[in-house]
Amino acid sequence: MFVVRIIKSKINNVGNLLPTSSRQVHNYNHLYKNISEDNVKVVICGESLQFPNVWLRENCQCKECYHNSAQSRILDWSKFNLYVKPTHVRENENTNSLHVTWDDGHVSEYNFNWLKFRSFTPANQKKYTETIYKPKNITWHGKDFSKILYKQDYNDILNSDAALYDWLHMLSIYGVALIQNTTPSETAVDDVVKKIGFAKQTHYGSKFVVQHVENTSNVAYLSSNLQLHTDLPYYEYCPGTNLLHYLVQTVSQGGDNLLSDCHYTANYMKENHPEQYEILTNVEVEWRDVGTEFENDFFKLHRAPVICLDRHEEITRINFSIPQRGSHFPGPIELVRPWYEAHSLFWNLNHKFAAKFKACSGDILAFNNIRLLHGRSAYEDSSDNVRKIIGTYLDWDEIYSRLRCLKVKLKNEDGLC
Ligand SMILES: [Zn+2]
Repeated sequence: MFVVRIIKSKINNVGNLLPTSSRQVHNYNHLYKNISEDNVKVVICGESLQFPNVWLRENCQCKECYHNSAQSRILDWSKFNLYVKPTHVRENENTNSLHVTWDDGHVSEYNFNWLKFRSFTPANQKKYTETIYKPKNITWHGKDFSKILYKQDYNDILNSDAALYDWLHMLSIYGVALIQNTTPSETAVDDVVKKIGFAKQTHYGSKFVVQHVENTSNVAYLSSNLQLHTDLPYYEYCPGTNLLHYLVQTVSQGGDNLLSDCHYTANYMKENHPEQYEILTNVEVEWRDVGTEFENDFFKLHRAPVICLDRHEEITRINFSIPQRGSHFPGPIELVRPWYEAHSLFWNLNHKFAAKFKACSGDILAFNNIRLLHGRSAYEDSSDNVRKIIGTYLDWDEIYSRLRCLKVKLKNEDGLC
């Protein structure tokens, strides 16, 4: 613990890099006032629920307040009264709705299902978060890779909403999923992307070809061992997912994929090596890529820790790349060696926990680029033994959006939006 305290005080002294603890962030008690009279109480399907006046009034669904085809609030905020009160509340069992007359004379009607879906109970909020917002991640160790790797046929992905939904759902939960029997065409991966959303363009293009290239601008285009990394950590808006179509997989020894779930590794570090975890979640380093592609020169820099957390202390993004970390260290000199030690531990643990897997020709391997590390063992490249991959990136905004749309379509549930 002594070490932790030293490091914490150093970090605090040099720039207050440590976030306040999550407990402090989530202690809202001091904000509470006596608000019980500010809520409308309603019993829906036997459950007693409460909705704040201000929220109800702002979420009025009438034509004056809400534009149905745009699915957007159009209420005029300049006329909005934060302290509006209901003068009359009526539950209508026949229309399954709640009618509220407000003290400014406005009348609102809310469907019971619509209200229940938005209820403020922690159980309902959790259900909404996990069913609609984002499915909850499940972490994995490489030894379980064959059990967690979900596989779907290329034609089913293109032709069945249910197959596409299941595949995207598993990709979001485990951070990796496979498509098999893909058409051997350089544009096959584009058809998958079109079913989901839009490719993420980078300075390597909207698609890239991975094969052995001499004098390359990127180490991925060499046939030697490719160390575990995330792609493009130097982008502030880093691509969320990699889709790699193995048009031709090498028939020689090697060319195996290595994949490691950094959420598993980070949890392990938090539990067993808290000082190093603290360093990797707090110390910013600089990610960098400089070069020229397609006659466009680029100079990309982004500063962020290896493990980025949100205010709930959940991991939002992993950055890791030996070649694409710059030599400028933006933090204080005292943190250099501890950071290298923590980085080394993270590297070792990811190798220890990584899955080894060799994709086949016709596979599209998709994985979460801001969660997993990926790498490749060396392979022999010759004129009669080639390896050619067509890669593209897709952002999580597109994937989550498609998942939600498919969920609404497949479940045909009212009020999900
Ligand atoms: Zn209204």
